[in-house]
Amino acid sequence: MSSVSTTVKMRCPGCGQESEQLVYRHIDAVAEPELKARVLSGELFLHTCPSCGRKSLITFPVIYRDEHLLACLSDRSIAVEGLEGVSGRLVADIGSLIEKVKIFNAGLDDVPLEFCKFVTRQELGKDVDLKFLRLDGADNDIIFTYPEGGQMQMLAVGFNNYEDCRAIVARNPEITNGLSGLVRVDREWTEQFLR
Ligand SMILES: [Zn+2]
Repeated sequence: MSSVSTTVKMRCPGCGQESEQLVYRHIDAVAEPELKARVLSGELFLHTCPSCGRKSLITFPVIYRDEHLLACLSDRSIAVEGLEGVSGRLVADIGSLIEKVKIFNAGLDDVPLEFCKFVTRQELGKDVDLKFLRLDGADNDIIFTYPEGGQMQMLAVGFNNYEDCRAIVARNPEITNGLSGLVRVDREWTEQFLR
């Protein structure tokens, strides 16, 4: 697989100006590592209106691939080749795609991380949508973000919490047994094991 892009016309939701935009259908970050940086920053999925400067999200189905991850943003079930040796993930939106790339790029595994989110939500006592941002500091604190009151909140969680979840996942093979092909590893997926 190599990167595939097309040019589409996008209409600015602000001023209505139409302009051309390069849209990636396949992102091969193994062949083109510079694309990974543009995914991590989110820039690859932002359209900037040449007339008024307004930025809007480019939401097209896309397949992303790097050394550890093959992530597919699609509303349909699709067949994908090249899943040997990588984690295959289905994602529902661009934000989730970028988060998966961040998680694997940090050397983490999204399965224990989703369990770590569950524990963190319980400790917070709030039903919030946690997203992984980065590892931080000498102790590799896990930084999550979540929206609250119209703002993004940041939360640091000790790396030992992630290690505890990784140990739980390792002790319960039924969790990882179903991880073949493309799997949507998200909050709902995680909670099926916690009922
Ligand atoms: Zn505009």
